[in-house]
Amino acid sequence: MILPLSFKTDSSVNPALYLCKLAQLHGYQDVRIMLKAYRLRLPQGQQNHLIGYSSIVKALTGQDIDYAAPAEFQYDSTRYFKSLVSNHLKVCPDCLECGSSPIEHNLVTSATCRVHSLKLLAECPQCNHELTFDRQLLTGSCSYCGHCLPRVSQNEPEYQKMLYDLRSDKRLDAIHDLALAAGYILRPYDCIPAQIKNEEISDWIGLFSKAFKLLTDKETLLNWGSEVFKQKQTRVKGLGVQASLAGIVFLDEHTMLDWPELKNARDYFSNTLTFKDGIFSGEKLLSEMPEETFVSKRGRHLKALNEEDIKSYFNYRITLEGLSMVSGIDLEVLEALYKNNTFKTIGAANNYSQNFVDLRDVSRIVTEVSEEVETFTHVLPDSMNLLIEKLMLVNLSMSQFWHFAFSHSNLVRIGEGSEKIIDRAYIDKPALMKFCFKTFTADTNGKLRKSVVMDIFGLSEFDLRELAKHDLLHPMPWNQRHTYYRIKHLINMENKLFCLGRYCELRGLDFQTTASQLESVGIHPVLGRSIFECRYQVLHFLKFNQWIEPKKRYLPPSNFTFLKGRDPRKALLLN
Ligand SMILES: [Zn+2]
Ligand SMILES: [Zn+2]
Repeated sequence: MILPLSFKTDSSVNPALYLCKLAQLHGYQDVRIMLKAYRLRLPQGQQNHLIGYSSIVKALTGQDIDYAAPAEFQYDSTRYFKSLVSNHLKVCPDCLECGSSPIEHNLVTSATCRVHSLKLLAECPQCNHELTFDRQLLTGSCSYCGHCLPRVSQNEPEYQKMLYDLRSDKRLDAIHDLALAAGYILRPYDCIPAQIKNEEISDWIGLFSKAFKLLTDKETLLNWGSEVFKQKQTRVKGLGVQASLAGIVFLDEHTMLDWPELKNARDYFSNTLTFKDGIFSGEKLLSEMPEETFVSKRGRHLKALNEEDIKSYFNYRITLEGLSMVSGIDLEVLEALYKNNTFKTIGAANNYSQNFVDLRDVSRIVTEVSEEVETFTHVLPDSMNLLIEKLMLVNLSMSQFWHFAFSHSNLVRIGEGSEKIIDRAYIDKPALMKFCFKTFTADTNGKLRKSVVMDIFGLSEFDLRELAKHDLLHPMPWNQRHTYYRIKHLINMENKLFCLGRYCELRGLDFQTTASQLESVGIHPVLGRSIFECRYQVLHFLKFNQWIEPKKRYLPPSNFTFLKGRDPRKALLLN
């Protein structure tokens, strides 16, 4: 199997060039014929393109050579362009004359030979035929028309210079960022650029030059942002400015290196709510790739959309993670809403955060609940945290909160505006608290932790001790890390007596003030500080400022049972 003549090569030399020289040495017309004679074939495809050459060279010459592109250019499934090794030949005429052709030239990002500062050629400038290694090319001329390959002086493009100037670990990140930005050059209106087949791209150099501009040039960024905003604002108005600019937000969030101009542009857009036409004069980059060039096929879910929406579907498709960035709602919450079918499901990924929603659909839902908010309280970040705590007390989650918000509920509304929706959320606090307590009392067999009981019912340690002493409320008897109370026991207790703490909690009243008001007319708690004997008496005073006789009196039990044959731990409560 091994060729009679051979000479040494190494992994820095393009294997195609080496094979070509071997073929010439053995008098074969070209490489293909030589390989055919040995029942071998040139490697196909892109991903394992170079690796394929290793076995051919091994078979023909017995040399073990590991051909590989620089690690940062090899296949990476997390990158927008998964493979960055070109399967087209690119040559530098001067390198060729020296009998070499570095593998590095075959990366899609390579435009200029760094040694000779010459333009790398992929096709003959005369006949436009793609170059391949053969006898003719070894002498520096096109094998189809015989045209002598010109030496075109060319400075390195900025992005290529940047890539080589970076340390190798940073280079990996820079390549990732360039590939992602290139995605927006190809699909500028997409929130997340849909994957394009590598072979659809003819001008990689131009693509990466533009991508570099998108990461570094202010005018270009502003131009892109304003164009995208103009096109999208009507369709996703309900979600605010951020949603129209989801692309910029996503790009900024997902770049690995710091690109100051990108950050500036994002900030600028976030703070500027209206755009004037024609204020940006930067180079226009916008030109969409046609739908056929996508890697992904049309899903069944698209059937529900009308013709016009299908065309722009990719422009509005966003992952839950992206939606979280533009709406300001936590990802976990969105995942729960997604599982709950609050949004329409679009496709399914292994990972929930990668599932898609249609921004237009979400915007529609938000617009439906954007109404008068005058009587509602604005949910400020501080009160949001408070709200979360309150919801947790009654086993409600933030996702339920947003589910109410998105389902025509009168508890939560989204105000109109261009900020993130989280900044436009308004709640009707009393209504929400009432709702919370309703769900809470529905679960009478449930149990609540002592700290939660104290919070919801406004009870102090002293109150709990007093209640236990009067045999009105005891903690649950088993021993766990926390002390628990049964909800039905709490409700029982409430039916017998009036709990001012919970009343204040529910109405948003200040407990101290209310209690001292009552005290001023001689209405005192019968137990602890929060437990009053008669609901009617207290409410009558609070409503009409009138003292009346209590309707029922509380008589403490004459015979306390708390020490008799009960769980001794309860006695501890008395200390
Ligand atoms: Zn060169
Ligand atoms: Zn030619």
